Amino acid sequence: MLQANLVKPEKVILEEVEIPSVRENEVLIKVKYCGICGSDIHSYKGKHPFVHPPIVLGHEFSGIISQTGKKVKNFHKEERVSVEPNIVCGKCYNCLHGRYNICNYLKVIGCVGYNGAFAQYIAVPQNKVIKLPREISFEEGALIEPTAVAVHAVRKSKQKIGDKVLILGAGPIGLLIMQVAKVSGAGEIIITDLLDYRLKKAKELGADKIVNSVSRDLVEFIRETYGENGIDLIYECVGREETLSEAIQIARKGTKIMIVGVPEENPRVNLAYIGDRELELIGSLMYIRDDFEEAIDLIQKKKIQVQPLITHSFKLKDIKKAFELILKKKENVMKVLIEI
Ligand SMILES: [Zn+2]
Ligand SMILES: [Zn+2]
Repeated sequence: MLQANLVKPEKVILEEVEIPSVRENEVLIKVKYCGICGSDIHSYKGKHPFVHPPIVLGHEFSGIISQTGKKVKNFHKEERVSVEPNIVCGKCYNCLHGRYNICNYLKVIGCVGYNGAFAQYIAVPQNKVIKLPREISFEEGALIEPTAVAVHAVRKSKQKIGDKVLILGAGPIGLLIMQVAKVSGAGEIIITDLLDYRLKKAKELGADKIVNSVSRDLVEFIRETYGENGIDLIYECVGREETLSEAIQIARKGTKIMIVGVPEENPRVNLAYIGDRELELIGSLMYIRDDFEEAIDLIQKKKIQVQPLITHSFKLKDIKKAFELILKKKENVMKVLIEI
């Protein structure tokens, strides 16, 4: 089979390897679509804090079961599936307390310690496989994973009905959080980005206010528009020092800031504000099964739209072109899928 191996930063080689053999508790999946995630871009550039080449990337995928291990009872050949890519120990403190997304021994398919789905086939433990309802296409199936990230972040934020919500960053995660936040009862959603086409998409998908933070000073805009009471909840979906620092400046005293973006470098922010304003900076990492199931439900029932986020699709052999397209930031790129 063909796989795309990231052997060192910015160097992906296509190689022919054996189809993985299936252990008794595993399922072999013929991959159909796999999305390129922001974190894959960090990895590609050699800037992801936890991803070390050589590795086959790819953790947002859908496919068809082509073989099942001896002990697999609930899945069958030809079934359409997606995969929850976090592989956990099941024994550490957090695993035993329902928070296996932050397992001490976390491995992530296509990220950490486990080859991913930029390959024709992948073998995964059966307990990580999840059936794809008929209403969800393979393309949409590749967006369940990022949707689960959004569901987890919104759930962790304990967002309240009617909350005024600010989302920094209108990339795929920002736009998914926006939709999930809306379904969860947000009163008003303001979303910001540097790129107009992303903001246009945000508007189409239901943003109440869009702000291009190149042409408008965001801190000032929020102060002028919302006065003293400001914003109730902020989702930082960029992971840059500037946006983190903006979030801290914008936050009303006592506000929550959800940290969803993955920072590339070590961002330096003014922690003095955290104490002084009693801000809550809350991290959100991946998801657990409930979030994944909720994501599937939202897509299946068309409560949120994922199809409009898909802007490009490339064949596996052209995966380098896909990465380069995203890095160039020229065309109107949102979610790029690899068709396998
Ligand atoms: Zn991802
Ligand atoms: Zn664990």
